[in-house]
Amino acid sequence: MNDTKNFSVKEFACHHCGQNKIDQRVIDLCQKIRDELGVPVRVNSGYRCPAHNARVGGVKGSRHVLGHAADLSSSRSGMLMFEAVKRLQGEGRLPELGYCILYKTKNFIHVDIDKRPSGSMWEVRP
Ligand SMILES: [Zn+2]
Repeated sequence: MNDTKNFSVKEFACHHCGQNKIDQRVIDLCQKIRDELGVPVRVNSGYRCPAHNARVGGVKGSRHVLGHAADLSSSRSGMLMFEAVKRLQGEGRLPELGYCILYKTKNFIHVDIDKRPSGSMWEVRP
């Protein structure tokens, strides 16, 4: 795995044990979102080992456990970040993106690289 301009691979490691199986495409995706926002972006959660995922109440089979997902927050609202991801995707600039969830009240977004069979990419949760 390689660092990008604003992200180090370490930021995506499991918070509980330091293991890191993050996929490079997730880091690249986060960098593009960061570039679009123009402000620092915090990786709340990247790779999670199965034990950590269970502890934080993550769903079984979570994309975080596969190293395919990241939860991001910044000084911008979750809504603004979600809109930025939509804009980039609409311009064909996020081929890595599989799915994006806006967590409205918690003010963060989840992005992952797994395309859903339904083809849907966008979800808003309270
Ligand atoms: Zn762990």
